[in-house]
Amino acid sequence: MEKIALVGIGEIARTQHVPVLSESTDWELATTVSRLGTVDGVTAYSDFDTMLSENPDIKTVSLCVPPQPRFEYATKAIAAGRNVMLEKPPGQSLAEVHALQTMATEAGVSLFTTWHSRAASGIQLAKEWLADKTVTGGFINWKESVRKYHMGQDWIFEPGGMGVFDPGINALSILTEILPLPTHLTAAELVFPNNRDTPISAELHFHNNIRAVFDWTVENEQFWDIDVTTTAGTINLKDGGSRIIIDGQETLATEDVEYKNLYSQMAELVRNKQSDVDLSPMIHVADAFTLGKRRVTDAFEW
Ligand code: NAP
Repeated sequence: MEKIALVGIGEIARTQHVPVLSESTDWELATTVSRLGTVDGVTAYSDFDTMLSENPDIKTVSLCVPPQPRFEYATKAIAAGRNVMLEKPPGQSLAEVHALQTMATEAGVSLFTTWHSRAASGIQLAKEWLADKTVTGGFINWKESVRKYHMGQDWIFEPGGMGVFDPGINALSILTEILPLPTHLTAAELVFPNNRDTPISAELHFHNNIRAVFDWTVENEQFWDIDVTTTAGTINLKDGGSRIIIDGQETLATEDVEYKNLYSQMAELVRNKQSDVDLSPMIHVADAFTLGKRRVTDAFEW
């Protein structure tokens, strides 16, 4: 098993990374780095530089900090010759991640921009089904309560935090994976609370009659659904792609395997000395900030 360090012990590290790593046959969670968080039974550092210098045998680092500080951690890890796995979104800007890609190539280490929603069990099935079809339209309905899923995470409303695009980019990571031909944004409207720097809801229009609604203001229910219509039928991806319905027939319903798949992919990349860097979901987000009309709404407080 390869040793791995987990950096940023917060919500996603605790709920997904730690349980998956504890059962992994590829990885041993050798240490953590977090200013406050720790994992029972695992050596903990609060300083990243110290961890890197004291553990030359840990060749891979998985970064679970929010996007804003991630570039600094990733550059240090790559400069120290470590393979790097990035939570989504892989950075706070496209250029940052292009820079990391160049650094990783020059250093000869693996860089993986993970998109956990792409690793859901139904995504490859949807991609295969759509591969020979002509898309005529699509609707992405991606709504969740910001208070339920992001309570107190102020970084998400700060520049680089992406606001409602933090969950919305998961839908875009699926869309960019399954469509037989790429699409592009044609118009958008972004709604900003008057006391925040990132949007709380957004509507996006893409070429090919594809529309997306991202909304954080729903309180008691959530929707992570994508419908794609083609000249030869309709496919519905429900619950983030864990359920697939083709022409009204439930075709697949499985448990959550996203992070298990991501860590298997990272192990393979490291074994083969390869990288996997795909920024296509983030390009749509950047285009939404470029093309989008801005509307201001009431202040948001937790
Ligand atoms: P989080 O709990 O708010 O933050 C993760 C950890 O990062 C914190 O516990 C904190 O640990 C550290 N951190 C926070 N701000 C920092 C800063 N400015 N500098 C250095 N470290 C900082 O966030 P999260 O929900 O786990 O999300 C982290 C990433 O995972 C995001 O990119 C998010 O999009 C992605 N993600 C989240 C979810 C989810 O459901 N939450 C799902 C999938 C992906 P210390 O204070 O102990 O250092």
